[in-house]
Amino acid sequence: MNCCDRSGLMTVEEALEQLLAAAQPLSDTETVSLMQALGRVLAADQESPVDVPPADNSAMDGFALRFADCNTGEETTLPISQRIPAGAVPEPLQPGSAARIFTGAEVPPGADTVVMQEQCRWDDARVTLAADIKSGTNIRPTGQDIHCGATVLARGRRLKPQDLGLLASVGIAEVPVYRRLKVALLCTGDELVEPGEPLPPGHIYNSNRFTLMGQLQALGFDYVDLGRVADTPEATEQALRRAAAEADCIISSGGVSVGDEDHVKGCVEKLGSLDLWRMAIKPGKPLAFGQVQGTPFIGLPGNPASVFVTFAIAARPYLLKSQGASDYLPTPIPVIAGFSRPHAAKRQEYLRARLVQDAQGKVRAQLAGSQSSGVLSSVSQGNGFVVHRLGESIDEGNAVPYLSFSDLLF
Ligand code: AMP
Ligand code: MG
Repeated sequence: MNCCDRSGLMTVEEALEQLLAAAQPLSDTETVSLMQALGRVLAADQESPVDVPPADNSAMDGFALRFADCNTGEETTLPISQRIPAGAVPEPLQPGSAARIFTGAEVPPGADTVVMQEQCRWDDARVTLAADIKSGTNIRPTGQDIHCGATVLARGRRLKPQDLGLLASVGIAEVPVYRRLKVALLCTGDELVEPGEPLPPGHIYNSNRFTLMGQLQALGFDYVDLGRVADTPEATEQALRRAAAEADCIISSGGVSVGDEDHVKGCVEKLGSLDLWRMAIKPGKPLAFGQVQGTPFIGLPGNPASVFVTFAIAARPYLLKSQGASDYLPTPIPVIAGFSRPHAAKRQEYLRARLVQDAQGKVRAQLAGSQSSGVLSSVSQGNGFVVHRLGESIDEGNAVPYLSFSDLLF
């Protein structure tokens, strides 16, 4: 363990720094069509082979003309010399005439202004333009959006719906992406039963499996679900061996404390190596990081809310960086606290919160319910974390950092 704060706990920033330093981005790539590319990570910069738009075009339905052909300060009547719908190739504009033109149609060579039809009266042969028209209006110039040769998206970009549209707008039909990172998931605990089964005395339902599977799916990873693993050294070792053979990275929940029933630590050490970090994070604290037969291993705590937090804050950036993504750290946004926490936080707390608008229209962050590490309902009710920073207190009305769940689940 490197630098720690006074209490002997590792700060979240220090743990992240170590995790990210260890993350080895994938190098295998494949080519996929835009149809299949949502959420995938670009493996090369994408340059535009064209200008967008490819030619000057009209932003309005109206008339294209040469401004110099118009009278200043009074109406002008011009003959209509051609009609240009979108998709047509225009003739050069005859001097002293106007061309009927529609939105998206190419402006004819020689025209420098489009007058919108609301400023015109016309019949089949001629158009009369209002007195107050302006030079150069309503033309979207060649390359206004993108110039030929410009990098439209960089390597490492996780493709969003609007990125697919952007790539399509420059004519790119398929893109090189990194192969999907494959994550093995195992949930330890003799007390676990699967939803849909009866609940015998002494048991609880396995919720972590679904929370983690959902987080992995939301981030676009491939995964191997190893399900529930019994609290025995044999079962744990067998699951870890299979995980190491089949996946790029292993995530486990539970069993990383130092109780008699916690076998993960011993088994990972037997098959590879392990650091057990006491992170200054709440909920959370124990986080294990190591490798099983060369495959990276992250051991999350068992408590359901701790699992959600430690995955979102620590495992997510590690996995995204391993996937080749460049935007692996979320950006906190300042919000106004609608509550107080007068104590200096001994561990950095990720408070389940909701942004709520009051009667005056002001948005404030309110706590979403119980902050206990075993309580999952408040994670569902929240829409983000307010970060109660290590060593600081929160007074109502303070600006506090907020991490939206929609950012953490993308
Ligand atoms: P552990 O770290 O294994 O001691 O687990 C800590 C707490 O989390 C215990 O109360 C466990 O019952 C609970 N827990 C562990 N794994 C799961 C799971 N997959 N789903 C729900 N709760 C769990
Ligand atoms: Mg356990």
